[in-house]
Amino acid sequence: MDAAPNTDALPDLDTPPNLAAHLSMRKPLTILPDNYRHHRTLDLRRDRRMLVIMNLTAIAFVIPAGLFFGQVLVWVRPGQAEEGLGLNTGLPAGVFVLLIVLIFSILMLILHEGIHGLFFWIFTRSKPVFALKSLYAYAAAPEWYLPRNQYLVVSLSPLILISLLCGLLFVFIPQWLFLPVWGVAVFNAAGSVGDLFVAVWLFLQPGTCLANDRGDIFSLYLPDRNGSYR
Ligand SMILES: [Zn+2]
Repeated sequence: MDAAPNTDALPDLDTPPNLAAHLSMRKPLTILPDNYRHHRTLDLRRDRRMLVIMNLTAIAFVIPAGLFFGQVLVWVRPGQAEEGLGLNTGLPAGVFVLLIVLIFSILMLILHEGIHGLFFWIFTRSKPVFALKSLYAYAAAPEWYLPRNQYLVVSLSPLILISLLCGLLFVFIPQWLFLPVWGVAVFNAAGSVGDLFVAVWLFLQPGTCLANDRGDIFSLYLPDRNGSYR
């Protein structure tokens, strides 16, 4: 899936000083610079093993995330957290709260992808692509190659912002909303396992790398060491 080399796109990229100057501008590109080579691709449509590992990790992540946000709630609303989390709630109220949790989870999914999309737009000033598949939703910018640090922001922003939002809501919301908001925080964190996985992987790559996100296909491109054409 290498983009075709285009010598007109960035004619000043053939020497390291110009490359460094270019990278300091930190702009996303629609055409891959000629000195960049495909490094690796993560294709969730083909890599079933990776998809299974991610899903199992997400399910396992529910437990520490649940404990963490439960503890946050205890810190923020001491004395109210246990009761508010529905530990004393009867079945009818429990079903009602579960319905609210479901509705909130759908809103969370939209918000999560919306935040990815917002940061794609902030960096590229171009409309991102949204899609809803059977097992997952995504926001993507298939036409763009994003510098590593920008992609890190795109990738981690829903986890950070929604977690902060839920923590803030814990301060104000009535007790009956504790469980739904806690649920949103936990499910968002668990659903961010894929984002975290990509972010950690990306963090270990050179800062000069470019990331291309097509939703279920994520590719990484690295510059030649000497910045020259081949
Ligand atoms: Zn995400």
